[in-house]
Amino acid sequence: MRLPFFNRTATFEHGIHPAYHKETGSLPIRRLPFAPRLIVPLSQHIGKPAVCCVSVGQEVLRGQVIATADGFVSLPVHAPATGVVEAIGFMPSASGKMVDSITIRVYQADPQSVMVSAPRDVESLDKKALLAAIQDTGISGLGGATFPAHVKLSVPPDVTIDTLVVNGAECEPFLTCDHRIMVERTQDLIRGIGYAMKVSGAPRAIIGVEDNKPDAIAAIQAALPADSTIQVKAIETKYPQGAEETLIYALLGREVPAGQRPAAVGVLVNNVMTLAYLGRLLPAGEGLVERVLTVAGPAVEKPGNYIVPIGTPLRFLLEQVGAASSAKEIILGGPMMGMTISSLDVPVTKGTSGVLAFGKSQLPQEEARVYACIKCGECVNVCPKFLNPSQLGLLAAKREYAEMAERYNLDRCFECGCCSYVCPSHIPLVQQFRIAKAINREKAKS
Ligand code: SF4
Ligand code: SF4
Repeated sequence: MRLPFFNRTATFEHGIHPAYHKETGSLPIRRLPFAPRLIVPLSQHIGKPAVCCVSVGQEVLRGQVIATADGFVSLPVHAPATGVVEAIGFMPSASGKMVDSITIRVYQADPQSVMVSAPRDVESLDKKALLAAIQDTGISGLGGATFPAHVKLSVPPDVTIDTLVVNGAECEPFLTCDHRIMVERTQDLIRGIGYAMKVSGAPRAIIGVEDNKPDAIAAIQAALPADSTIQVKAIETKYPQGAEETLIYALLGREVPAGQRPAAVGVLVNNVMTLAYLGRLLPAGEGLVERVLTVAGPAVEKPGNYIVPIGTPLRFLLEQVGAASSAKEIILGGPMMGMTISSLDVPVTKGTSGVLAFGKSQLPQEEARVYACIKCGECVNVCPKFLNPSQLGLLAAKREYAEMAERYNLDRCFECGCCSYVCPSHIPLVQQFRIAKAINREKAKS
């Protein structure tokens, strides 16, 4: 049964408290040098890939559009550095697939200080022009979701948004780039929130920040006037506090009905990094050419938050932080929902919020052994969606994938990994659920 929402710490029910390893949260953001070559995929967002508009041998300026958006659900791509187009074609990506990419040989002697820009008076834009300007920045969801920002902010005429929820939870262990953005780019963030409120029609915004980041909360509070329509609210430090539905429940006590979007309860959710870049790039009329991300993990000698040009190969990035030779396992994103990658030749993209490196001796060898379910119920106790992961796991083992969806709400699972994390038998529950969903999707197509 749900607890009454009033008079309690802002949080959700269930969830876990993993070791957070947030040491980099106290380190200021630093800039990394440009790699000799940048590999810039044409599809770094959900939707249609961008269309290349440069040719091999062509010189490009930092910030210049090198690929244009292909329709509304698409984004342009900007040159992350001044240099020359060396190749256009398939290159490796983090997903393991080869994807269409533009390779730029960077002019190392160039100071890279010039950005192609067209400053604009954002206040004078109407909603339609504002959405177009947001699309021009090339910003996708920088928390990792990679949904084009302008699409997410497009509210249908028959929908009313009463609250913009700004996600500053950053509940994944190790990641602290959102934390540093809130501390160091507070004005950008507040400006970006204003643009998002204007375009979505939301009359107020609430920034939810986990209570392990008191300096971020203080920085935002200090920057907001007393009568602001933007509030900042501390929420309990608990994983997965930053998932859209858990965050909405924690801040507003509203439950998003199964299968529906947050707009069904009058809410739009955006990540702090996305809005801070919107606040920075939109008035400057610039495109997204770099991002702040966390590089951390036991194999990293110089962990921290770095400004990294889009397209930087991971090998170069890890060399800069003293991790290239010792790293045996690399995770993009956080350890709970991130993706393990098998090649260092893939580039940083718009959605890369973190790069975590682990050495061989730091890998959890013991956990590779899987035992039978002992019906302890731990997974049920932590699932934020109130599912029965134990039963889902038993059905997955029998490959009864349709049953998992029809009777046990597999589609409500958002793969947070809490159940796998607590399972004493080390059953790879979340991996099983991913496979089951993929098979169900394939069956639905046929
Ligand atoms: S991965 Fe799915 S089933 Fe497991 S705890 Fe998260 S939402 Fe629940
Ligand atoms: S936590 Fe693991 S062992 Fe315990 S009930 Fe769930 S699946 Fe079974």
